[in-house]
Amino acid sequence: MPEGQPVHDHDSAEGLIPFEEARSRALSGIEPLPPIHLPLRDAHGLALAEEVRTPRDLPPFPSSAMDGYAVRSADVAGASADEPVALRVVGRVLMGARPEVPVGPGEAVEIPTGGAIPSGADAVVPIEASAPDGEAVSVLQASSSGQHVRPAGEDVPAGGVLLESGRALGGPELGLIASAGIPEVMVRPRARVGIVSTGDEVVRPEEPAGYGQIYDANAFTLHGAVVEAGGIPLDLGPIPDDPARLLETVDRRSDEVDLIVSSGGVSVGERDPVKAAFRDRGDVVFLEVAMQPGKPQALGRIGDRPYFGLPGNPVSVFVSFEAFVRPALRTLMGLPAARLEVPALLETDLRGPRDKTMFARVRCRWEGDRWVAASTGPRQSNLLATVARANGLAVLPAGVESLAPGETCTVILFREDWE
Ligand code: AMP
Ligand code: MG
Repeated sequence: MPEGQPVHDHDSAEGLIPFEEARSRALSGIEPLPPIHLPLRDAHGLALAEEVRTPRDLPPFPSSAMDGYAVRSADVAGASADEPVALRVVGRVLMGARPEVPVGPGEAVEIPTGGAIPSGADAVVPIEASAPDGEAVSVLQASSSGQHVRPAGEDVPAGGVLLESGRALGGPELGLIASAGIPEVMVRPRARVGIVSTGDEVVRPEEPAGYGQIYDANAFTLHGAVVEAGGIPLDLGPIPDDPARLLETVDRRSDEVDLIVSSGGVSVGERDPVKAAFRDRGDVVFLEVAMQPGKPQALGRIGDRPYFGLPGNPVSVFVSFEAFVRPALRTLMGLPAARLEVPALLETDLRGPRDKTMFARVRCRWEGDRWVAASTGPRQSNLLATVARANGLAVLPAGVESLAPGETCTVILFREDWE
């Protein structure tokens, strides 16, 4: 965030900043965290910060694709069930060991699947195409050079690139790196996210709540969202509407995290602590974003850590995290920020304010040839059950006031639990 930004931004005619502009401001200046070395298992879900090449051929040596006999293909080029070729069995290949016995003309060596091809042999005759006969074996099928042999380096040759820098490490990627004998990789670390709730009325769920008090939902919504985005949440506790307490907490603990997110207290009210705390610091701006839910937003820096001050309503928290914090967090981790977006046929109508981007909670399902979406309830931003029932956010861009059943809408899928 450039310094000296005005505290209040009223860029557009209505005093609202378009959603896309707010998002690009939220992401400006956010760079991937410095890379670290991690053991493979700990690197799951993280982005590679280096290109990984294999020092050895993959597979590392020519091996058998079948249980059978390693042979010289020239010996059995004319073999058939009617005219079998008899070979002398001179040994057996053991798994995990270099073959001791070479295969000479007229000879065969027993070999299991994955066993190393002995010298002299260039093909494998499967057990099914042979008939053992004492010290010998009758080959019932012709074989060509290379048949049932897995060549060395067929997957990736020595020196070849296994994975490009930036790739996210899932199970197959970890397996591939392990198969090259590489136990550690350089990756972008998991971003640690400090989470603060504000409000005189906010109580931890472990404590009794008196009349007029509410339990801290936001800290938990954010905890889950951070984990799901690949980050590490750190609970900095609920804080009363006291700007000094808020500043003291975030300043003291900012070293422990890579990003800080608070909920509540960004509105215009006298008691709103985020406004009061950062009004005069110049490193946090207060935006009125043309979006619903989530209009008031604070964003900036605490020390050199990105800071997001989200509004307090539970649905606004969820949507604001999706819109601003998740992309920032993923950028810190060098991971792609985009969610799967699908066109969905609406079963219910959706309404939003004409001048704002509306994010409507919907439940999406796949009907074999198309996505279908239905609203999960009314649009007020305190109704968190409507999010818990949803798996997508339908986007009604500014300018669109309503969509009717049968119309198509873009839906951001935030959960992979569709039927
Ligand atoms: P605020 O943005 O602080 O004005 O809060 C807006 C609304 O969200 C108020 O009704 C608050 O009581 C509610 N709220 C604020 N923080 C939380 C929280 N951590 N959990 C649940 N509701 C909250
Ligand atoms: Mg509040």
